[in-house]
Amino acid sequence: MKKNILCVNPWIYDFAAYDYWSKPLGLLHIAGLFLKNGHNVYLIDCLDPLNPQMVEAKKKSPKRYPYGHGKFFKEKIPKPEVLQFFPRDYYRYGMTPKVFYDYLKGIPQPHIIFVTSLMTYWYPGVFATIAILKEVFPNVPLVLGGNYVTLCPDHAKKSQADFLIQGEGEGRVALLWEQLWGEKLDFLPEESNLDSYPYGAFGLYPTVDHIPLLTSRGCPFRCIYCASPNLNSHFRRRSSKSVLEEILFWYKNTRVVNFSFYDDAFLIKPEEMALPLLTELIRLHLPLNFHCPNGLHLREITDEIAFLLYRAGFKTLRFGFETADVRRQQEMGGKVTSGDLERAAKLLKKAGYQGNDIGVYLLCGLPGQDASEVYESIQFVKACGARPILAEYSPIPGTALWEKACLYSPYPLAEEPLFHNNTLLPCLSDTFTYEHYRALKRLTKIQN
Ligand code: SF4
Repeated sequence: MKKNILCVNPWIYDFAAYDYWSKPLGLLHIAGLFLKNGHNVYLIDCLDPLNPQMVEAKKKSPKRYPYGHGKFFKEKIPKPEVLQFFPRDYYRYGMTPKVFYDYLKGIPQPHIIFVTSLMTYWYPGVFATIAILKEVFPNVPLVLGGNYVTLCPDHAKKSQADFLIQGEGEGRVALLWEQLWGEKLDFLPEESNLDSYPYGAFGLYPTVDHIPLLTSRGCPFRCIYCASPNLNSHFRRRSSKSVLEEILFWYKNTRVVNFSFYDDAFLIKPEEMALPLLTELIRLHLPLNFHCPNGLHLREITDEIAFLLYRAGFKTLRFGFETADVRRQQEMGGKVTSGDLERAAKLLKKAGYQGNDIGVYLLCGLPGQDASEVYESIQFVKACGARPILAEYSPIPGTALWEKACLYSPYPLAEEPLFHNNTLLPCLSDTFTYEHYRALKRLTKIQN
């Protein structure tokens, strides 16, 4: 029997949030799975910056940029008790509660509700969303999945969700479906074959100005600060042919010209993905722009890859470099060396990129890190002719660096996920203060 499925991307509650081509990819893949199985799927993305009801209510959409990134709607809200000490305003990002209620009143009673979650410290937005869903649909089973649940499963039990799903959703959702209704889903993708997965259900949005893509799941590296190994079972990827087909599908059906790659390791083994995909994109000569906000691997940049990226329309390049400190590079996983950055920056410039196009992430506020290390790293990135971008460290439960973060942090990280918030600089110390941070931030803005 056809069922009504409601998928909800909850609000973000935070000091700051910006839409870098973000969409709830995991949730959209679950929605895609149910569409493929012939069910009625309803999507409410509380964060959607182009939501027509919100645009009508506010008389305009938040500031957006031609490449498809921009601001969210937001409203100032009271800070949680434990964050009262912090001298910044706190916001609910996304639609107003009234618009959310109106949506819920306008859809048929769902048989099941799926809610996703992302950062651990965004749980108040998740809880608030679930509270309203439970008020409007008290007897409907509600499933909560996503990164917060995977990383903080015990804490997530406080959410009022009826079921929690950790890690990748499709297989677990299928089991739950059988448990609830005693019937199997007609279609289930093969876990080992990502080409068999349905596309994310972007068609459920009234309008989109960009499409984020995943060409793979997981990462072959094990950086000590990163949650990727805990979120995905192992590294596996689609064929370049299937990725190209998806790009062409969305271009044809939505006329979207901005695509982002949210992969953890897009450039790894380039002969499997980047080389054939970029070559085909160049051959097709479409007016498309590509963006890589998630950090590419500098080590994989060759003359050929740099040239192909430039010619294929890759406009936003971000690289994970993290630090110029050689000892810490090794400690953190050894995915990159300073020599890799020097070499890659030269090749990218030779291919046509400007220094400002080559964004290089530097982690700041790591446990035990001195401000001087970040200062040296900024200078090194600039000397390579690239653009340093500070990435404020957020401690993540289950990572190899977590115990050290708990030891160094002045906050009870293990007790309260709100203290994982990178705006707080959770591992700040006498040698890395807010004043240091502000000075370093200014330094990244100063051109050479
Ligand atoms: S930081 Fe990047 S390379 Fe390292 S494990 Fe995470 S996703 Fe992989």
